[in-house]
Amino acid sequence: MLAVHKTALDAGRFPPDCFPMETITYISTRGGGSPLGFQDAVMTGLAPDGGLLVPTELPLVADRLDAWAGLSYPELAYEVMRPFVDIPPDDLRDLIARSYATFDHPAVAPTVTVGDVHVLELFHGPTLAFKDIALQFLGNFFEYTLAQRGQRMNILAATSGDTGSAAIYGVRGRDRINIFVMHPQGRVAPLQEKQMTTVLDDNVFNLAVDGTFDDAQRVMKALFRDLPFKEKYALGAVNSVNWARVLAQMVYYFYAGLQVRRETGAAQVSFAVPTGNFGDILAGYYAARMGLPVKQLILATNENDILARFFNTGEYQLGTVVPTASPSMDIQVASNFERYLFDKVERDVDRLVTMLEGFEQTGALRVPLTSGSVVDPLFAAGVGDRVATLDTIRRYHATHGYLLDPHTAVGVAVGERFMEDGVPLIALATAHPAKFSQAIEDATGRDLAHHPRLDALKDAPTRCVALPAEVEAVRSYITEQVD
Ligand SMILES: *Cc1c(COP(=O)(O)O)cnc(C)c1O
Repeated sequence: MLAVHKTALDAGRFPPDCFPMETITYISTRGGGSPLGFQDAVMTGLAPDGGLLVPTELPLVADRLDAWAGLSYPELAYEVMRPFVDIPPDDLRDLIARSYATFDHPAVAPTVTVGDVHVLELFHGPTLAFKDIALQFLGNFFEYTLAQRGQRMNILAATSGDTGSAAIYGVRGRDRINIFVMHPQGRVAPLQEKQMTTVLDDNVFNLAVDGTFDDAQRVMKALFRDLPFKEKYALGAVNSVNWARVLAQMVYYFYAGLQVRRETGAAQVSFAVPTGNFGDILAGYYAARMGLPVKQLILATNENDILARFFNTGEYQLGTVVPTASPSMDIQVASNFERYLFDKVERDVDRLVTMLEGFEQTGALRVPLTSGSVVDPLFAAGVGDRVATLDTIRRYHATHGYLLDPHTAVGVAVGERFMEDGVPLIALATAHPAKFSQAIEDATGRDLAHHPRLDALKDAPTRCVALPAEVEAVRSYITEQVD
């Protein structure tokens, strides 16, 4: 498993506001290249050898949790992120402050009690989904670094919905940055599509590709693997493979975990996490490894259940993507999973590469189970299908007057199955219900979920180009626009 060391910071060698001489560096899961600092890791996105960048070490923070318990969200974000980030402390503080000033709730990510569940509302950002938490920060961080280096960047992203709009809102109108966002045509909730295509800033390009999300992701990965193209067009990534996203997401596990622990007096908490690309829950995994007392990370998928099957059987086997009531999780190949797998094989690069090559050829890979016949005692996993999702939305509305979006409902449905006495359950609410109002209507029979910002999009003008899900088509579109 991942080696966890005390960093110089933890050893108390630096006073709290001193710029750390040594921050954590990042290496590729495929073993290529030399370690990168945070700024380079974030600007690169995917590692040049096609692997994912992971921290060489994690700070242990268990002895600081009591001191962190009363901090505001931006203050806590600074404490959690600082050992990982190689820019001066005041700059980091400033980027964090600006990133969360765009949220419309004073707590940024409040936790509310709904029946037996603590709902962590991650949807108070500009696009009303949890991805804003990472992408508001990433947009600011790109702008900061590009200005410092006198460079420009062309962001290329593939989205099953929420990533696209959150990424667009993270960088719209900024100098030095263009953004190209591919979404699978007709497979994104209509409102989500509108959230992307109604952004008319000159630096924003929406591409509707004829295929699934996985097809779009394949095109994206192929273009990132084409190193001369990547160099020439200064491609940047905002997909959940970008390390900055995982890092920014770790913060709310600490924020909610510490708050709920204080309120309930419990020693440990569990988190129910609706999962697609394994980005959100991976942040929880790292938070737990850093010393947040987590009993279980409850991984919840919809019918696209490759990850639930993996954690229950040890076999990671490709299925076909089916459309569901929670479209942002309609994913089979989870791009962040490689980071977890890297730790699971004890950072043995050769073994990992062999597994991944096998997966490329056969569509399956397998890890051995531990003595308790589980893949990992930290994880529980299950599926919330359409029936369970709609039933959960209906129940929480009828019983508590609270509307869960369908992704959140998948997490709550699966979380309830693993609930334990004395261990508070924190359910991550990943989207505002109004983003998926059709599911709310299907569940309750009423059109209940609205948000003024979304209602205002209905008649707004849009801009979007349709392209085949082919590498060459997307490549030449980008080339034309940039040149
Ligand atoms: C992206 C998304 C998810 C899944 O998050 P991953 O990091 O891909 O696991 C869940 N819910 C909503 C609303 C999302 O936008």
